[in-house]
Amino acid sequence: MIRVTVWNEYNGTQNFPHYPRGIHEYIKDFLNACEGIEATSQIQFCEGEGLTEEILSHTDVLVYWAHGFHELLSEGAAERVVRHVQQGMGVVFLHSAHMSKPFRRLMGTTCTLKWREAAERERLWLIDRNHPLAQGLPECIVIPHEEMYGERFDIPVPDELVGIGWFQGGEVMRSVCCYRRGLGRVIYLQPGHETYPVYTQPEIQKLIENAVRYAAPVSRAEKVECDWVQKPQEEIK
Ligand code: ZN
Repeated sequence: MIRVTVWNEYNGTQNFPHYPRGIHEYIKDFLNACEGIEATSQIQFCEGEGLTEEILSHTDVLVYWAHGFHELLSEGAAERVVRHVQQGMGVVFLHSAHMSKPFRRLMGTTCTLKWREAAERERLWLIDRNHPLAQGLPECIVIPHEEMYGERFDIPVPDELVGIGWFQGGEVMRSVCCYRRGLGRVIYLQPGHETYPVYTQPEIQKLIENAVRYAAPVSRAEKVECDWVQKPQEEIK
């Protein structure tokens, strides 16, 4: 079983029309319908911010959605997420989580981008057809209404660039990106503006499911540190 924690900044008021119980609950439910995935949810505005040591050490893949309260997340919680990724936990950052503290720390760049909220069409091209994230999906996913996110997206060159989004207004975006940080995988998925029903689309649900499976850890370390000074394997003459 892949243990998934779906995390949302949720403060109890963000019941968007398409997700009346919160985006985290909606994503949790469709992930739980996938074989081999066991999803629970956590929110920011609670004791421990939903990112305690206990929660993260029992999480194989953290799915992270946030928009308006990035700066209210404590430095300690951001540091815990980064450390658990370095120790092997997978993380999938969704949409506006590009500006979250853990994502920016893992990238080491500003992570800024261009944006426009005009309910325009996005054509999300999965350009690496053989990649695990593209399995079971068409080459081009059409999202009828999406917030435009465009280049330049200030991220490091992705280890694996899987998808490029094109928007009706003309911009393009590196929309599906994979990185390795320490033992962990970091995946960024651009789709998912909260006022459009993006996560109700079966192809986007499949993309998130694929991302969870790909980010799942192969092995995890107890700690990030290691003893750097080494005894030689054989006598050096
Ligand atoms: Zn948005």
